[in-house]
Amino acid sequence: MTTSPIKLPPELLPNDGRFGSGPSKVRPEQVSGLLDVATTYLGTSHRQKPVKAVVGRVRQGMRDLFSLPEDYEVLLGNGGTTAFWDAATFSLIESQSQHLSFGEFSSKFAAAAKAAPHLKDPQVIESPPGTHPPPEAADDVDCYALTHNETSTGVAMEVRRPAGARLPADGGGLVAVDATSAAGGLRVDPAEFDAYYLAPQKCFAADGGLWIALCSPAAVERIERIAASGRRVPASLDLKIALDNSRQDQTYNTPALATLYLLAEQLDWMLANGGLEWTASRCDRSAEILYTWAEQSDFARPFVEDPRDRSHVVGTVDLVDDVDAAAVARVLRENGVVDTEPYRKLGRNQLRIAMFPAIDPEDVAALCACVNHVAGALAV
Ligand SMILES: *Cc1c(COP(=O)(O)O)cnc(C)c1O
Repeated sequence: MTTSPIKLPPELLPNDGRFGSGPSKVRPEQVSGLLDVATTYLGTSHRQKPVKAVVGRVRQGMRDLFSLPEDYEVLLGNGGTTAFWDAATFSLIESQSQHLSFGEFSSKFAAAAKAAPHLKDPQVIESPPGTHPPPEAADDVDCYALTHNETSTGVAMEVRRPAGARLPADGGGLVAVDATSAAGGLRVDPAEFDAYYLAPQKCFAADGGLWIALCSPAAVERIERIAASGRRVPASLDLKIALDNSRQDQTYNTPALATLYLLAEQLDWMLANGGLEWTASRCDRSAEILYTWAEQSDFARPFVEDPRDRSHVVGTVDLVDDVDAAAVARVLRENGVVDTEPYRKLGRNQLRIAMFPAIDPEDVAALCACVNHVAGALAV
């Protein structure tokens, strides 16, 4: 083990060294855009046109990016995905939910539903880290909670209504999808979900603190029915209040204006380049580079065994015991290549690499070369 600092040759370095899974790389162009409106938008009322117009841009941009059917609605509110989970326990789950639990994030929503005194204990279907369970149609479930991309393990699953489940229109459960790290980077068919919710600090390259939910008419109907039922709901977690405000291009309480603007800029960039098919293809390309490198490496391999489950937005790569992943991540960090550490609670000798649309596939290739260099230098 060497003691002198390892300096990566400049020609190996990526153009941008940010590979974190959230907060994630913000493109400098988004920040320049924000600078352009520094005195006309920042620091102005969120109840007036300049800010409402940006909220409108975000809501329309989401409609366009996901090709939402006319009768779907885009809701937004403060507090990020974690707050949305709590809101969902009040305003989306009627009595009992079913959760696929296969990592830190998917287990958290299950825990929130379990802790809610007004709900029955949820059905929780678990599978080991690195895999995902299949959803199971169940008559007593009124909300199926899926996770498009489990950010803690790098497992992605296709968004589909559970096989054999009745549609919400026929009395079946809603399908609510945590798409926080998937939305904008993985393909999805709106017909397969009722609520597809996200926060802007992953694929949308903005800051945290906001949640966005793409809602089907069945989800909107559920929100309205629960609101009319007399259930006591804290106002900041009431999706009916969020719905009413969203329809006016505003949030119930004050949002972070910079976040909204960065998000709007990223949506425009995605749409101008070709929309979701373009972003997903870019993530496909990054994933192909990362997993091919890991498969061919003699010290690394993809953590997720089944190639179909390997995420194209957050890649996890195990290193052999002889190569200390924490040391690799530390050396990368000293060289300006940051946030490749694994999800802390997973406890594996692993690197975790975000491959969100903002991240250039060429930079993923450069990162692989840097890891090779560091592993070699550490072995000397
Ligand atoms: C990041 C993340 C969250 C948490 O989002 P916050 O906005 O920090 O609450 C939840 N679920 C998934 C899948 C995530 O990647």
